[in-house]
Amino acid sequence: MIGRLLLAFLLALPLPAAALELSGEAIQGGLLFGQTLPGSQVRLDGREVRVGPQGRFVLGFGRDAAPSARLTLRDPDGREEAVVLTVVQRNYDVQRIDGLPQTMVTPPEAVWDRIQRDAALVAEARAHDTQLPDFFTTFRQPVEGVVTGVYGSQRILNGQPRQPHYGIDIAAPEGTPVAAPAGGLVRLAEGDLYYTGGTVILDHGHGVSSTLLHLATVEVAVGDRVAQGERIGTVGSTGRSTGAHLDWRINWFEERIDPQLVAGPQR
Ligand SMILES: [Zn+2]
Repeated sequence: MIGRLLLAFLLALPLPAAALELSGEAIQGGLLFGQTLPGSQVRLDGREVRVGPQGRFVLGFGRDAAPSARLTLRDPDGREEAVVLTVVQRNYDVQRIDGLPQTMVTPPEAVWDRIQRDAALVAEARAHDTQLPDFFTTFRQPVEGVVTGVYGSQRILNGQPRQPHYGIDIAAPEGTPVAAPAGGLVRLAEGDLYYTGGTVILDHGHGVSSTLLHLATVEVAVGDRVAQGERIGTVGSTGRSTGAHLDWRINWFEERIDPQLVAGPQR
C-alpha cells in the first residue's frame, strides 16, 4: 500500500539524534507502533504520548486525521528529534437508509438524559492511560463471521447525515461467544445502554481500547482482567440494532481506529 511505501521511505532517512523505530501504518483509522529509548518523551502534534518501560508507544489516527502529523522525541539525554509523518487519506462509503421510523433517526426526548449519561460513561472508560502492555499484540477478530459493515461509512438516515459508522459489524448468530480481541482490563460492562445495548469496553493500555456492542449477555465485570481469546459475553441484537451481529470498535483515546487495519487473520 502507498502508506507503507511512504513510511518505509521516511524510515530510511537517517535520524541523527534520537533512536526511533516505527511499525504499522500512518493512515486514517490506523495505529502506528513505536520503539524508542526508555525514558524518552514523545509528542504527537503536541500531545504527550505514554512511553512504556521498554520504550514502546502507540499513536492513533482518527477517521478524519489531517494529511500530516508531527512526531517529536526528546531522549533521556535531552536530544530532540522531529519527524513529519504523512498520514494516508481514505475515501469512505456513503450509506443511505430511507424509510426508517422517525424514532430511529431522532430519539424521543424522554431518552435524551439517558443517552447523555451513556455517552459520559463510555467517554470516561476510553480516557484511561495505563501502562498495560496488551496493545502491543496482534488483535484477533472477537467472533468469526462475515463483515457486513465497515469503518468510516457515512450514514444518511431518511436524508439526514448522521455520525459515521465507527466499528465493524460482524454477522453472527445470537448467542455466539464473543472473545476478547486482545488482553485487557474491563473498564465498562453495561447490560443496557440506549444505542448499544449490552456493552463491554476493554482497556489494552496506552489509550487503546476495544468496545463490543449489542451483546445478548455481558459475562465480565468492571475491574476484571481478561486474556486474549477469553469469553466476555455473547452476540445479540440489544440496543438500537436490527439483527444479531457484533459491532467491534477500537479507540486510541477519543480517536476512532479501524479494527480491520489492526486485526490479524480470523481465528
Ligand atoms: Zn455497527
